Amino acid sequence: MAGTGTEVGKTWVGAHLLEALRGRGLKCAARKPAQSFGPGEGPTDAEVLAAATGEEAETVCPRHRWYEIAMAPPMAADALGRPKIEISKLAREIDFRDGVDLGLVETAGGVRSPIAHDGDTVDLMALLGPDAVVLVADAGLGTINAVLLSYAALAPARAHVFLNRFDAGDALHVANRMWLSERFGLHVVTDVEQLAGTVR
Ligand SMILES: [Mg+2]
Repeated sequence: MAGTGTEVGKTWVGAHLLEALRGRGLKCAARKPAQSFGPGEGPTDAEVLAAATGEEAETVCPRHRWYEIAMAPPMAADALGRPKIEISKLAREIDFRDGVDLGLVETAGGVRSPIAHDGDTVDLMALLGPDAVVLVADAGLGTINAVLLSYAALAPARAHVFLNRFDAGDALHVANRMWLSERFGLHVVTDVEQLAGTVR
């Protein structure tokens, strides 16, 4: 689960996707390799994802990867005087137990946002080799630029593009979906149930 940027709704889409898949009888697990957050921001991503899968938040994101300051994880680690984050260690910490039908990994920020001192989502995906990538994007103004740049960075992994907060009554949202799918041939999804059928 990657995003064109921060706050596009990766966690929301991921949690609803997991709930939809569990509703279809699949055993699901979620992992957040590292999370940073400001004080009083409400539940963390790990807590939201844990509620969706029925896991413990510290299983979703190990406690030593919680950074209590709203900066990219490596910057937060530096600001908090914590050890440097190595991308290979983040990848090794992602451990799905046997019997899981679908394991979801939510990265941090956008695809080129630093998640470690020596890597970003593109690097993490190269290490993990996911079966599918979901690129979450906003549905509104500016999304074509953000999607195309992010999609190119994700190559050769083929991503499903999820336009979040899509409103079928909004002419701009409809035009953006058509532009991305028809001009650029991207697989664009706007509905969580449809996404569940796609990644399953
Ligand atoms: Mg998130």
